[in-house]
Amino acid sequence: MTRLIFLGPPGAGKGTQAKVLADLGQIPHISTGDILRAAVSAQTALGIKAKNFMDQGELVPDDLVVDLIQERLSQPDAQPGWILDGFPRNVVQAQALDDLLTTMQQGYDRVINLDVPDEIIVQRMLSRGRQDDNEETIRRRLEVYREQTEPLIDFYDQRHKLTTINGAQPMTAVTAALADLI
Ligand code: AMP
Repeated sequence: MTRLIFLGPPGAGKGTQAKVLADLGQIPHISTGDILRAAVSAQTALGIKAKNFMDQGELVPDDLVVDLIQERLSQPDAQPGWILDGFPRNVVQAQALDDLLTTMQQGYDRVINLDVPDEIIVQRMLSRGRQDDNEETIRRRLEVYREQTEPLIDFYDQRHKLTTINGAQPMTAVTAALADLI
């Protein structure tokens, strides 16, 4: 499997696991959060538009991230496959991704839902110390996840593409479960 989408709450370990699998499969790990943070640091037009949304734990407007992902997926290194981490974040983005992949005559193999209880998420996020990881924005990001991103679990389940993995296990156990799957 060379085209995977990682779904799960903030702090579920999506980034860590996506990176391991991408290295194994020698395909790019595409994290919209990483790309946006780099744009904020570099103060590009995208970064300037995205910064306030990110600082407040809100989603960056769909058109910005859809454009970003369209551009990234059309790069040569993404032609053999990719792992998406942090995109799509809502149904509008998921539909935009379906349309984009249809246009590119591609599809995705699986959507991996990393399932982690709330208490563990908050603990993990507080210990990671990122700029947007203070308690208030963590709470808001979790709310945004429940309201906007969690409905994607049903969206992909209905398309028979979803696999849920227990993300509360130790990191190496999660990696082993993922390696088994793919
Ligand atoms: P992440 O690193 O995936 O937790 O993303 C950090 C922040 O970047 C999020 O809280 C959002 O503000 C923004 N972001 C990342 N990916 C998306 C996306 N697909 N749609 C909208 N905003 C995003």
